[in-house]
Amino acid sequence: MAERTECLFCRIVDGDLPATLVHEGERVVAFRDVTPVAPTHVLVIPREHHVTVTDLGRDEPAALVELVAVADRISHAEGHAGDYRLVFNSGAAVGQSVFHVHGHVLAGRGFTWPPG
Ligand code: AMP
Repeated sequence: MAERTECLFCRIVDGDLPATLVHEGERVVAFRDVTPVAPTHVLVIPREHHVTVTDLGRDEPAALVELVAVADRISHAEGHAGDYRLVFNSGAAVGQSVFHVHGHVLAGRGFTWPPG
């Protein structure tokens, strides 16, 4: 596990790195992805450092519950009526590049299935 001081998303939580925040809650924060791939592309993350969604569910389940609720709230707030895709990349082999768990909230356009 990366040390908190070395983790990009911990630095955003701590206010040491700028981000466009859209939600600041007790256990989670949300901010716009710097490289959006949909009209709404927001990352929802726990304040505490966990690497994967599995780790989060095991070690801080209340934060995972809050994270999912915030994802839904963002979809409504941005005019998508609760329609959104919530993606967790878990592991480098499937595309995880930041090893602080984050749910990608994607909405505002059509999506293909299966994902690429
Ligand atoms: P993943 O590949 O699933 O780990 O997703 C990491 C995401 O973090 C990518 O979509 C990046 O565009 C995004 N990202 C990386 N650095 C930042 C940053 N400083 N602020 C906002 N989003 C970022």
